[in-house]
Amino acid sequence: MTTFLFHETIFGPIHSRRLGSSLGVNLLPNNYKHCTFNCIYCECGWTDLEKHSNTTFLTSNEIATQLENKLKELSTKKVIIDNITFAGNGEPTIHPHFSEIINDTIRLRNIYYPKSEIAVLSNASMLHKPSIIEALKKIDSNIQKLDCGSEEMFQRINKPIKKMLLSDIVKQLLNFTSNLTIQTLFLRGEYQGQIIDNTSDKEVELWLSHINAIKPAMVMLYPIARSTPASNLEKITIDELNKIANQVEKMGIKTQVYP
Ligand code: SF4
Repeated sequence: MTTFLFHETIFGPIHSRRLGSSLGVNLLPNNYKHCTFNCIYCECGWTDLEKHSNTTFLTSNEIATQLENKLKELSTKKVIIDNITFAGNGEPTIHPHFSEIINDTIRLRNIYYPKSEIAVLSNASMLHKPSIIEALKKIDSNIQKLDCGSEEMFQRINKPIKKMLLSDIVKQLLNFTSNLTIQTLFLRGEYQGQIIDNTSDKEVELWLSHINAIKPAMVMLYPIARSTPASNLEKITIDELNKIANQVEKMGIKTQVYP
């Protein structure tokens, strides 16, 4: 597969379908993925556990300096930025100084781009940590992943690298309601002899029950967009995504579908 990695800490701004003109912040290494999950569809490739133990992160000061230089340069050129977005090569909330980095980002945003928002794309696996919750509560947009209805499908699709249950993730999301958007990737296929399908009636019904309990401000639905580490995965159609989105809308929750 072709892996899609970000080779800089501060990247863009890129045009994002979800977030407009988005200046990206990648808190993970610039040449491999570091994540608490090993999703079979991850465009960054498989999670390499051997590299994990040797990962060194940039300090919060180094990140703040890089971000300030970029924001200064862009504001001088009058480049529009809608969002400063934490995304990149893995799970951003893994960074050991995530809270300080969020504080620095808010301070710099207020100086250079006071009208821009701050967004974090996350897989919700670190929401058991009070410091992460406190940091995320300060920002404008928390886009948290919830791909599956059943435990079985969660283990098959998201493949957490340490013991982690879907019920824990759901519980964490139930306790976290701050500016919350849920993002879900729907797919079908086969991996290592097991059926992959979070679009079946049973799976969607279970997933809807989680969404109904969590009551996020919005749900974003999307299919596979790039090459995946597991082969034999299928991109589902826009009609199918719209059908699922309609069921979410019936619960009074806004949706966005990204074909
Ligand atoms: S949570 Fe995101 S970065 Fe981590 S493995 Fe899954 S798709 Fe990749």
